[in-house]
Amino acid sequence: MRIILARQAGFCAGVKRAIDIAEECCDQEYSFYSLGPLVNNDEVVRRLESRGIIPIETLEQVNPPNRLIIRSHGASRGLLLEAQSKGIEIIDATCPLVKQVHELVASLRGEGYDIVIFGDINHPEVQGILGWCDNKALVINDVNQVSQIKPGQKIAIVSQTTKDENKFYDLVEAINLKIGEVKVYNTICAATKKRQQAARELAQEVELILVIGDRKSSNTTTLLRECQNTGVKSYQVQNAEEIEPDWFEGVSTVGITAGASTPDWIIKEVMDRMTLLEENDKQETNGEITNEESFAHMEAEMADFTTPSRGDIINGKVIEVRDDEVMVDVGGKSEGIIPRRELAVQDVESARDLVAVGDEIEVMVLKWDDDGTILLSKKKVDSQKVMDSLEKAFESGEVVEGTVTGSVKGGLLVDVGVVAFLPASHVEDGYVKNLDDYIGNIYRFKIIEFNRNKRRGSQVVLSRKELVAGEKAKLKEAFWQNIEEGQTKKGKVKRIVDYGVFIDLGGYEGLLHVSELDHHRIDHPSNVVSEGEEIDVFILALDREKERVSLSRKQLIKSPWQIVLEKYNEGDIIEGKVVRLAPFGAFVEIEPGVDGLVHISHLANYRVEKPEDIVQPGQTINVKILSIDAEQKRIGLSIREVAADTERSEVEEYLDNQE
Ligand code: SF4
Repeated sequence: MRIILARQAGFCAGVKRAIDIAEECCDQEYSFYSLGPLVNNDEVVRRLESRGIIPIETLEQVNPPNRLIIRSHGASRGLLLEAQSKGIEIIDATCPLVKQVHELVASLRGEGYDIVIFGDINHPEVQGILGWCDNKALVINDVNQVSQIKPGQKIAIVSQTTKDENKFYDLVEAINLKIGEVKVYNTICAATKKRQQAARELAQEVELILVIGDRKSSNTTTLLRECQNTGVKSYQVQNAEEIEPDWFEGVSTVGITAGASTPDWIIKEVMDRMTLLEENDKQETNGEITNEESFAHMEAEMADFTTPSRGDIINGKVIEVRDDEVMVDVGGKSEGIIPRRELAVQDVESARDLVAVGDEIEVMVLKWDDDGTILLSKKKVDSQKVMDSLEKAFESGEVVEGTVTGSVKGGLLVDVGVVAFLPASHVEDGYVKNLDDYIGNIYRFKIIEFNRNKRRGSQVVLSRKELVAGEKAKLKEAFWQNIEEGQTKKGKVKRIVDYGVFIDLGGYEGLLHVSELDHHRIDHPSNVVSEGEEIDVFILALDREKERVSLSRKQLIKSPWQIVLEKYNEGDIIEGKVVRLAPFGAFVEIEPGVDGLVHISHLANYRVEKPEDIVQPGQTINVKILSIDAEQKRIGLSIREVAADTERSEVEEYLDNQE
């Protein structure tokens, strides 16, 4: 015998919520009461009663400080006010959908509408709704009762949430024929509709249907009727004991559905009993148990059927992707929806950027919507996984990698899968001038604080300080192992001070004194290099004990004297600048840092008293190189010879022209 469970069956979101609320109240120092049974299921009510949730008939039975739980069906406004006036604390487990109906009828009543409720007048939900429209509504359970409505009335129609939708519209049509102004509100709950629809579909596939649920339960009664209307043999049972083995004679496929107030454990008991019946049957006919396959199948169905609770992590398959949300088949009774904001830690334009139809993903149940759909989060599962791995890293001291995403008061925010905090004092192993310089960069960190339960501030706190210090120490060690005097290294200008420049040699800083910047005098180091610039430096001296490195740039560039020797010869007439005067002559700069002397006797071709009679400091003049003494670093110059040479060449030119 094959057993098939309806796609949607059992506890609806409203009933599940009420049970969850009641369970939170169980086993406490006060008693909790529910006015009438909490749900329409005696077995559930008995279980709750054994844990301190007592059903009562009237408010008089509640003595403060004992408390009152309002069941999922809701209660009238009058009852709530009366409870308040008696000082009774109320725990409201009214289904949010039922609450909507309360608000709706109260507002319609205020607008002057006569309310018609399609429902059973004795049902607690209808009693509650009546109490929100001053008990003035007309309750109709059958289209034949429409005659009670007088023509000319301004009518608004609502429904008990668990009623049959087709019957509701039959009623609406009948009222419409009689009345001019009618407002129609289909307040039948989607969970009810889905269960009815699933039961009808199931009826097409099976030879017999079992409807599990309490006989007081309106939606179970409706489910049974829906199944019977399909023509398939249908039985209602409240529990496994009510199953009659005779029903299944000659039946090969059985469908199972359950009302919205039927818990999973009763459904499982029914299925277990059916398995047992089948096993006995087979033993009788074959003398051996051969239903292992069938049992395994049923177990799988039960596992699938289990209603996931808030916080559960389940597997799902993406069945539709829209820009703003993703629909996920989570198996069992309901579909799940992941809103875009719950897809990933990072923001994306469209959900399509992250998932595609067919993807198998893990999701967390956030809550059940009133229509039975489940609100899911992939982000929370991902975050939880990230938090698990961060916790491991914290415990083992493992290093994690992350991107700095922004700055806040006192530090930086870092994306390490979740947003973590990096205090300013832990960014480097020293003071940091501008935190914003770090934004957008990827670094390695150690987790110095991890607390999943922290509600204020960051659950993950990072540090780079130790790592930076460690990396620096390694680089320093490698630096001192490989460095030798006389080497040429590339370095980066780190800091410029009046007396020189600190150069980062990759792990260690050396000093390039201002006197070693160039061969000629420098007013300030910033006139030669700028911060961040990469330059070649010569390792001038090492003091390994004091860990000092003296650098030189001068050693790597040509000296002015080298330039002079390569560029000039004795006899050349060149341009120079008078830089200073002395009683014995004038000094003329011919290259930066190299001055030559024009002796007073060479200033003019006549006797000169004082050099200033011929030249002035700053004046640019032509001079002839008389001598270059590389050893003594002396250059002899002459102005007189320039004039003589000029005169000579003019005479030669004149004579050449005469010929
Ligand atoms: S059937 Fe619908 S309206 Fe009624 S309790 Fe369940 S979810 Fe709420």
